Amino acid sequence: MQIQMDGACPYINIDMLIGIDDTDSPQGMCTTYLGAVLARRLIREHMQVREARLVRLNPNVTWKTRGNAAIMLDVEGDAGRAFAIACDLVEELADFSCEKTNPGVVVTEQKPGPSFYHKAVKDFCTIDEAVAILEKEGARYRGWKKCRGLIGATAAVASELPDRTSEILVYREPARFGTPRSVDRQSLFDAEAATFPHTWDTVDTTNDVIVCVPHTPDPVLFGIRGRSPQWVMAARQMVCSEKPGLEQIWVTNQGTDAHLLNGTIGALREGLSYWVRGTIADPPQTGTGGHVSFTVTDAAGTVRCMAYEPTKNFRQIVRQLIHGDDVIAVGSFKKGSINLEKIRVVSLANAEIIRPPFCTKCSKRMTSDGKGKGWKCKKCGARADVPDVQEIPRTLEPGWYEVPPTARRHLARPLCRGTPDF
Ligand code: ATP
Repeated sequence: MQIQMDGACPYINIDMLIGIDDTDSPQGMCTTYLGAVLARRLIREHMQVREARLVRLNPNVTWKTRGNAAIMLDVEGDAGRAFAIACDLVEELADFSCEKTNPGVVVTEQKPGPSFYHKAVKDFCTIDEAVAILEKEGARYRGWKKCRGLIGATAAVASELPDRTSEILVYREPARFGTPRSVDRQSLFDAEAATFPHTWDTVDTTNDVIVCVPHTPDPVLFGIRGRSPQWVMAARQMVCSEKPGLEQIWVTNQGTDAHLLNGTIGALREGLSYWVRGTIADPPQTGTGGHVSFTVTDAAGTVRCMAYEPTKNFRQIVRQLIHGDDVIAVGSFKKGSINLEKIRVVSLANAEIIRPPFCTKCSKRMTSDGKGKGWKCKKCGARADVPDVQEIPRTLEPGWYEVPPTARRHLARPLCRGTPDF
């Protein structure tokens, strides 16, 4: 602990964690932008910002604005002053006009245990649960309106990231908020080509789509995700764009599969995300809108799996599955279906066509002589007991398959980071 003198006012420098959530609306703002501005205001007040962290929480909460993000800053400075600055900034920047914007700010000198974070990323939490933790830790906290943001803010300060990735978020100058973005398309493709697989999801090369530039009126110009601050910075430096306002490298849980639980068919809960093993029961069918569905079964029951139209070429993989293939389906369980993020084909069933046997004498196919009675040649009367079984070569190979970058969820671990241990 250090005492810092600023004129007549003594500040006590201590370690603290600042959590913020739920400041934006579909019309504008972004909690990460607010966090980046806050980091700069704290530094201006001679505080030290040691880490800026962006955590994604349960992607299935209905009251999220976009990607269910919350932020945490690890700071050394005066906690009372930092809390006041953070609250003032929320009042200055948060979009209070939106009914769904319910900000929360937490400043704690004691890091809560990680269980609340794990629950918030995998399951559902209540505001009361968050407040109980904040009271226990003696944290400073403030919620606005319905105070729901206290959930994300508490999860952020409680977060532990054994697996972590980086994202550099480049923000626009405030005067440009809401206007069309100018980012050079080719420079994004060049950045991906030069740094993949150390960075990912900048563009979707297969579908020829830019992924890292949002279309919403928020302050983000573009964001580059990757395995380390060095790699995202290397890619970022190749991108040509309008003049940015500010930039922040975040430590994140994105691309780590932190939201997944081991699931058993028959015991899946709505709004949670799972790995589920089983065999294909009903083979894939393409419905209206191009959505592909099939069912997976195990001893306990059956569950439907969906590869929706936005998953594009992933559906071509899924369509090759047949009855009896052994798979691990990965995704969120919503309205009775697993919405696929990726799939492992563990083993392939034999694909075969069973037809009546040939009569070797007449070179014609025999006809059935009745159920269980074998086959008979109509011409010469020869009989056979076994059918003609032809194996069809499978085009699909065992292994992992994933949705393309355009359809990837923030938390889903891309296969370029290595295949899962399942
Ligand atoms: P923002 O950029 O403002 O964070 P967002 O898309 O991340 O936008 P929010 O506006 O933060 O979404 O809305 C998500 C809300 O859901 C927040 O109030 C957050 O505290 C809350 N929340 C997050 N995870 C959970 C959870 N697991 N259970 C219950 N509430 C949650």
